[in-house]
Amino acid sequence: MAEEKTIFAKIIDGEIPSEKLYEDDQAIVIQDINPQAPTHVLIIPKSTEIPRLADANESHQALLGHLLLVAGKVSRQLGVDEAFRLVINNGAGAGQTVFHLHLHILANKGFDEGSLGREFG
Ligand code: 5GP
Repeated sequence: MAEEKTIFAKIIDGEIPSEKLYEDDQAIVIQDINPQAPTHVLIIPKSTEIPRLADANESHQALLGHLLLVAGKVSRQLGVDEAFRLVINNGAGAGQTVFHLHLHILANKGFDEGSLGREFG
């Protein structure tokens, strides 16, 4: 039986609407539906192969690098390249709720010096 599609796979396939800020052959960037900071966007690989960062392997190296380059590009596009935080929640215990790898860009919020960014409320 085919595995249940994640919400992000449905967004990539156009089955669920999203506010898309960027797209290329490997990734999309969308506004988070429940923002935890004034700027909160998600960088999502189109590949559905990686549920968690810990599931990535050598074959994903170029894709993982690409996602970081997209983060930099989108940070410039959004005008937040002077101060943003990039977050990956890995596993339910770390707050991951969608098991399709994604990066959060959070910005335009005061970041405590030295904070690991656990509180974005
Ligand atoms: P996680 O907790 O897995 O690291 O992050 C999942 C993120 O996806 C959450 O910040 C949540 O608000 C966002 N999210 C969940 N469902 C949707 C949706 O249908 N559309 C959008 N744009 N974001 C979603």
